[in-house]
Amino acid sequence: MSSSPAAEAARRRTFAIISHPDAGKTTLTENLLLAGGAIRAAGAVRARGQTRRTQSDWMKIERERGISVSASVMTFDHDGLMFNLLDTPGHEDFSEDTYRTLTAADAAIMVLDAAKGIEPQTLKLFEVCRLRDIPIITFINKMDREAQDPFELLDEVSSKLALDPAPLFWPAGSGGRFKGMLDLRNDKFIPYAKKSSTDDEGHPDPIAFKGNAVVQYLDPEEKAELEDNAMLVTEAGKPFDVQSFLEGHMTPVFFGSALRHFGVSELLGGIGAYAPPPKPMPASKNGAETHVAPGDSEVSGFVFKVQANMDPNHRDRIAFLRLTSGRFTRGMKLKAQNTGKAMSVNAPIMFFASDRELAEDAFAGDVIGIPNHGVLRVGDSLSETGTLRFAGLPNFAPEILRRVRVKDPLKAKHLKKALEGLAEEGVTQLFRPMIGSDFIVGAVGQLQFEVMADRLANEYQLEVIFEASPYAEARWLGGDRVDVEDFVNKHKSAMGQDIDEAPVFLGKSSWEIGYVAERYPKVRFERTKERA
Ligand code: GDP
Repeated sequence: MSSSPAAEAARRRTFAIISHPDAGKTTLTENLLLAGGAIRAAGAVRARGQTRRTQSDWMKIERERGISVSASVMTFDHDGLMFNLLDTPGHEDFSEDTYRTLTAADAAIMVLDAAKGIEPQTLKLFEVCRLRDIPIITFINKMDREAQDPFELLDEVSSKLALDPAPLFWPAGSGGRFKGMLDLRNDKFIPYAKKSSTDDEGHPDPIAFKGNAVVQYLDPEEKAELEDNAMLVTEAGKPFDVQSFLEGHMTPVFFGSALRHFGVSELLGGIGAYAPPPKPMPASKNGAETHVAPGDSEVSGFVFKVQANMDPNHRDRIAFLRLTSGRFTRGMKLKAQNTGKAMSVNAPIMFFASDRELAEDAFAGDVIGIPNHGVLRVGDSLSETGTLRFAGLPNFAPEILRRVRVKDPLKAKHLKKALEGLAEEGVTQLFRPMIGSDFIVGAVGQLQFEVMADRLANEYQLEVIFEASPYAEARWLGGDRVDVEDFVNKHKSAMGQDIDEAPVFLGKSSWEIGYVAERYPKVRFERTKERA
């Protein structure tokens, strides 16, 4: 028997991990599940992936490329809290998917490779978190390898991200000389023992740093250095302030080695203690602005991801619904804000780390998978009354634009439908130039085109060709209607519409965009668009 929706929501921690490829996101995910008691041995996440992959054609790309295309969700109960870990694909090309997943997260763990610091993809993802006001916890990984000076790493966080780093721990050495870390909040030293990742009992218990016992782990020089550094950090840096963290100005910093299962329990403890439970969400109800509180009795949520089901013979989709309020129970009827049609959610899926299970009930912060036949779209709001609508999910200006043609000209109409379907799902973006009959598709990365071609062939029996497009960049237009209309009328040959018929300027180069932007200062040329 569970308690009230408000109390249940309060014990939810829904978070995602952001990082540059290879920083250790997969390894950290596994080890967090291990620390949370959700799995017994490391390697289980991949193993589960393997069996899933063999089930589906759609996942062939994943297998061939050795990357994870589809984001999943892992739920585990630990220490009286329910953790929902949103797994974001790490490959550079799939960042748009990752961005959308972040809209469903209440906090993010930023994993940095201790030898590399902030890398390009980290920065990009961080910007999205900032756009969404998502508080960020920093985990400096791979301390078991030769690392950069931790002070330099913190400087980088502060200068590149304009975020105040507040270390809660301080490492003693790195690489071959990594000895452990000091918990700055209670002066306990946590010794590091070189053990394998499967042996999580491997590290000795924390001991008082002040006493003599610590000399078994640190020689006098190392101890003195750690003492000095700890003093410097405490005196020079700002102390950790939860409010400042929640407002996105400060990040608590943890150190460790995901691979050696060191510092991971401390990180999980930090997520439990500091990451926020679900917040009230701005929404509109029958057109009026309102807030939906996690404890509200009406069940509501929004779809942040739609994934083709594993069976290519069926048009099944799983829509990932992030719940925002109420007590969801299995069999409940929910209505989408746009169609008003009620759907019975008889077979919702909860993604427990060990296995999938049917969800009996779920609360704000939880993510449930709803199997459907393509009715639900990314960005849809669902609620019992069907009157709630949550602010949209952003689209990102594509970095690659291609003209798409179907090999069999008789299937042109069919192509239009298929492209619209994929655009609605958020797989790629679709632009129709105002002049001419081309279809221009846009993606953030090259791989999205491969996924698209694969799905067009398998699900719609369409063989397509992607050709170079005369356009290089797309920008959504903003500003007063009169100014925008004036601009559109003067630039018809470079104008297109997106799937929602919003005007998009298709530039031949970023130089051209800069040039027109300078000449039309009243029009905004935007890189992101909130899906209505
Ligand atoms: P992802 O691309 O961010 O998911 O990174 P992975 O988790 O796949 O890790 C990339 C590589 O770094 C793998 O070879 C891992 O074994 C290795 N790795 C991850 N964490 C650590 C760590 O703490 N220490 C060391 N030495 N290697 C690590």
